[in-house]
Amino acid sequence: MFHSVLIANRGEIALRIQRACRGLGLKTVAVYSEADRDATYVRHADQSLCIGPAAASESYLNQAAIIMAAKLTGAGAIHPGYGFLSENAGFAERVAQAGLTFIGPSAACIRVMGDKVAAKRAMRSAGVPCVPGPDSALPNDADAIRGLARAIGYPVIVKAAGGGGGRGMRVVETEDALADALSVTREEARRSFGNAKVYIEKFLGSPRHVEIQVLADMYGNVVWLGSRDCSLQRRHQKVLEEAPAPGIPDALLAEVGARCVEACKQIGYLGLGTFEFLVEDGAFYFIEMNTRLQVEHPVTEMTTGIDLVQQQIRVAGGERLGFSQADISCRGHAFECRINAEDTERFMPSPGLITRWELPGGPGIRIDSHAGACYRVSPHYDSMIGKLIAHGETRADALARLRIALDEMQVEGIATNLPLHRRLVRDEAFVAADVDIHHLEHRLRDGGRG
Ligand code: ADP
Repeated sequence: MFHSVLIANRGEIALRIQRACRGLGLKTVAVYSEADRDATYVRHADQSLCIGPAAASESYLNQAAIIMAAKLTGAGAIHPGYGFLSENAGFAERVAQAGLTFIGPSAACIRVMGDKVAAKRAMRSAGVPCVPGPDSALPNDADAIRGLARAIGYPVIVKAAGGGGGRGMRVVETEDALADALSVTREEARRSFGNAKVYIEKFLGSPRHVEIQVLADMYGNVVWLGSRDCSLQRRHQKVLEEAPAPGIPDALLAEVGARCVEACKQIGYLGLGTFEFLVEDGAFYFIEMNTRLQVEHPVTEMTTGIDLVQQQIRVAGGERLGFSQADISCRGHAFECRINAEDTERFMPSPGLITRWELPGGPGIRIDSHAGACYRVSPHYDSMIGKLIAHGETRADALARLRIALDEMQVEGIATNLPLHRRLVRDEAFVAADVDIHHLEHRLRDGGRG
């Protein structure tokens, strides 16, 4: 096992990983850009090194600088967090070649899952239910493609195999629109994703987004750690998440969870991973796997009582899982609100100096944030400045705590999406757990903003 971990990330997740390391008695190395020089987690790290200017391309994405920093500080492992280099197979490979431990799955697993066609094929062969449609890239023959689309039935969605962040997808309602959608998506795939492959599948009209958390060690032990519902999204970005996914029969969840475990065994998966599904009319359809720690991991921690980040580090260091599937249960319910520095009138980022920062508290309330009064939100990075998590015995209890916490939390100096969250936790359909992935955007369109 390594003794020191370099955290190749910033913000709330850098702090979260640092806490996990300290809890395990590991030393931490913070690498930071010039914009993050004054961050609290940089001060708390055992060692810290500036790796470049504010622009992520020159700092948090600078692979050579990060590996050099690990060498210089004697770190034995690199934790990539989420975003930045966390799903970069080339980086995982370079870390391993440098004789360091990458806290995540193998480069080969990251590569397979980073290609959505390859991922779908792997999942289907492991018995994971997928969205109807072929698990191969589209051919060049227009007649053959029309035949495939007809067999699936309209509407269909054309997707780039290498797409991400909600880009590289086009819904096609009728056959007339197919050729155009295909050529635009092919062009985008070539230009933006460096992977020209596109594929086609059934477009689901009003699904929910449900995901399954998994954890695997190096010895073939794999568990699934419950479900999360992340249907409240804007532009495919999650806004508010919960665990467990409400209203899904335990037996169905257990069946899907067992398939995910089986898939992990087949591909030799290591560490934390998330299987993302669309769920419609009670059926699960796999869309993609994230081969990293997720932003929304705290709701799973609150409902399982398991520190996911510590587990992720332990298995990367070669430890065996200390529990089996039978030891895992779901206790109560948890919600997470992503607090963004953004103006929800126009959804514009709102960087600047935080002048007031009052946090909520009380039973079941958790805050994961690196921000505080006098913290300056940088315009260079993602606008998320923290996460407010609420746990309770039942969904209604957790929601009641979350409402109070949102009312208590006060941030001034910058605009935040707190008003939007306060509205969402009182939204009739959300309270009734009756929302699909379009709900938030429909509400924003119909009912004013936050
Ligand atoms: P990304 O990697 O860009 O996040 P995903 O494949 O996870 O792409 O899809 C992102 C979102 O696009 C989904 O959460 C869903 O809202 C929508 N989507 C993707 N595939 C389908 C589909 N077959 N039917 C309906 N919506 C879809």
